[in-house]
Amino acid sequence: MTVQQEAGSGTDTGVPLEVWIDQDLCTGDGICAQYAPEVFELDIDGLAYVKGAGDELLQAPGASTPVPLPLLTDVVASAEECPGDCIHVRRVSDRVEVYGPDAE
Ligand code: SF4
Repeated sequence: MTVQQEAGSGTDTGVPLEVWIDQDLCTGDGICAQYAPEVFELDIDGLAYVKGAGDELLQAPGASTPVPLPLLTDVVASAEECPGDCIHVRRVSDRVEVYGPDAE
């Protein structure tokens, strides 16, 4: 069986990815929540957080959530457009950042 993989800067998107936000750098503009509201949401403190499986905001520092493959494009766009450069997408397996300010 062939697993179809979407193009993405040469990165294998067939591997599980997760995303986290560095709230210390978040400007609160809400771009991420517009692009991928299933994954990101602003809290009443004006900062963006990733959401857990039950749609709850994960507010522990560095908390991450899985990136659903159908939402990968939107999550990557969020990371690319994020004014705070604070959205980090990494592989679950080795925690290497593949999209975001620390990606190679
Ligand atoms: S796009 Fe970046 S800076 Fe803007 S609200 Fe989301 S995490 Fe914060």
